[in-house]
Amino acid sequence: MSNKAYKFRIYPNAEQSILFDKTFGCVRFIYNVMLEDKIKHYKEHGKMLNNTPTQYKSTYVWLKEVDSLALANAQLNLQAAYRNFFGNPKCGFPKFKSKKKSRCSYTTNNQGNNIRIVDNCIKLPKVGFVKINQHRAIPEEYKLKSVTVSKDPDGKYYVSMLFEYENNIQPVQVSEDNILGLDFKASCLYADSNGNFADMPKYYKNSSKRLAKQQKKLSRKTIGSKNYQKEKNKVAKLHKHISNQRKDFLHKKSTEIANQYDLICIEDLSIKEMLQERTYRNYRKSVLDNGWYDFTQMLMYKLNDRGKQLIKIDKSFPSSQICHVCGYINPALKDEKIHKWECPQCGEHNDRDINAAINIRNEGYKIYQAA
Ligand SMILES: [Zn+2]
Repeated sequence: MSNKAYKFRIYPNAEQSILFDKTFGCVRFIYNVMLEDKIKHYKEHGKMLNNTPTQYKSTYVWLKEVDSLALANAQLNLQAAYRNFFGNPKCGFPKFKSKKKSRCSYTTNNQGNNIRIVDNCIKLPKVGFVKINQHRAIPEEYKLKSVTVSKDPDGKYYVSMLFEYENNIQPVQVSEDNILGLDFKASCLYADSNGNFADMPKYYKNSSKRLAKQQKKLSRKTIGSKNYQKEKNKVAKLHKHISNQRKDFLHKKSTEIANQYDLICIEDLSIKEMLQERTYRNYRKSVLDNGWYDFTQMLMYKLNDRGKQLIKIDKSFPSSQICHVCGYINPALKDEKIHKWECPQCGEHNDRDINAAINIRNEGYKIYQAA
């Protein structure tokens, strides 16, 4: 069995936020009050006190308002910390959790499907259905073990979902001529090391054109008018349609190459970096549009399921500047406008994207062999 965690942002309503904050407070409280009693008991009797959250519920009745599993997990955390202390008293008693410094979080467990995602909402004990942005798919065979709800200092809430899955897949023997390198491409999805471009299908392009037209129509309407609302709904529907088409395409493409190749290599471009970096700024729209991030996530789990690997290459690797034939490094290629170039050393005619994809493949294979 292996474990895997997925983190998603959630959007609680006002009432749910209050309950989350209350739970964070209760978890911190029960941890501290139980620790205090443990310390007292140890000082008096030199022994470990086995206390449970239930004992405190009659004195502090408000503890009953929050998820009891959250309290139980706080107890488990405390026990683990306290056992360390017993193993090595020199390290001192576990520390109390301060309101200011400690992280706002609690962990609850999935018992009999009491936690699940339905229609863009996650159902949590005591809290009910909370809106979730599930930006990546979770394989159906994964079993949900626990969920940690947390709040960042900026007030945003997240869930980290821990899954368990059976990992009895035999790793595939990688054959050198069955490795694919992908170079992210803003205008389509990618160029590959075999000289192919993964272009969005025609139907997708058609609906994108339709969307542009529809948006133009919308811009001519008076904001707030009946017609404006009507056109706005049409645009929203089309957006949804396009997003479904894109997801479909990404699934088909990722399944196709995950089936075909033993090893796939890509550059390690995170969405965040791509959106921040100046050189990628012109990619901005495409990154969001063409679903590169979703695609790499799909690839990763599909390859894993087949005993295969996705190798990510550090983005500092100059994949577009190296001639894949002779290894000559051509700094002129930093200029992204150059699409075709002739290698001054060996004379090879290179296509920018395909050459980069080949370099990514070769570098990825090196990393694979070294591991
Ligand atoms: Zn060359």
